[in-house]
Amino acid sequence: MACIKDLDLRVREPRPGEPQEPAMRAVGWLGSTLEAVGPTSPAFQARLGRLAQKPFPGRRMSDYPCLLCPRSERASRDPLVARGWGELRVGGPKATYVAPVLIVHYVLAHGYCPPDAFIEAVMASVAEPTEAELEAVGREAQLQRGTLEEARLSQRLRLASAQREAEADDRSGATEIRRILEALLPDPMRRGLERGGATVQDLEQLSRKVLSGLPVPDLLKVWFGGVNGQHGLLRVSSGDEWALLPATSAVSCWKTLCGQATPPWKRSWIPLLRREGAFLVLALAPRAHDGPILEYRPGADACERFPGLLGLARALLAQDARNV
Ligand SMILES: [Zn+2]
Repeated sequence: MACIKDLDLRVREPRPGEPQEPAMRAVGWLGSTLEAVGPTSPAFQARLGRLAQKPFPGRRMSDYPCLLCPRSERASRDPLVARGWGELRVGGPKATYVAPVLIVHYVLAHGYCPPDAFIEAVMASVAEPTEAELEAVGREAQLQRGTLEEARLSQRLRLASAQREAEADDRSGATEIRRILEALLPDPMRRGLERGGATVQDLEQLSRKVLSGLPVPDLLKVWFGGVNGQHGLLRVSSGDEWALLPATSAVSCWKTLCGQATPPWKRSWIPLLRREGAFLVLALAPRAHDGPILEYRPGADACERFPGLLGLARALLAQDARNV
């Protein structure tokens, strides 16, 4: 997910007809990291809320839940969170600021404090809020913080129960991986689990194109059963986010990587997660149901990150527990 430093010049090229001047600066594109925290005034919050009622036209991207919230049903159902990626624009004396609609939620629920220049621009360009608006924003802030607390609690319970259940005897690890994915994936992604994840056709394609017709190992079936078709990010270690590849993307990445054949690439490696040109791959071991997870970056030495899919899933769970 795009995560832009506050006040960076906007990275995206403007569309034809969009203004280039004054400079457009990004504010509040937080992704999964929150650095600037501090109190903001109700007068600012109410003005920001009013701006969010009418996002900049034509800039509504697909919905995306807040990555600072625990991955729980409640948080992703929050209408402000679900509204995701619409844009707000505020003109200031030196720049036009571009913020995601989600900034209102960041401010109210997470205590995000945007840069002063942005706050000043909002205060100057939006009319003074009414008493009713001030009251409403106060109620909304309370509600969002309450929702967040509740979501954190339910996430802790969910993780604790997943960890307990994971300790139950499961020789192949398949049930454990499935439980872990169910506990970890945010709701929009968990929908894939309800659908059964990768389809029979997806797995056949994986078998035919990547595994020379051999059956897809059980653990890999479970993995793609959990993450198939739902793009998303998972944190493998702190500040280290990887995008999940559904089965079909794993096949297309595999084909590309085989075509480039940059050492130390091997055809028995199956890409599972990707991050800035690097991949976490499952190194299929002959006659074993699981193999080590390696980090592969073209031209660099591959290093073993996890002992297998189960090890990767357990590390994701442990990392998530630290983030709660
Ligand atoms: Zn949030």
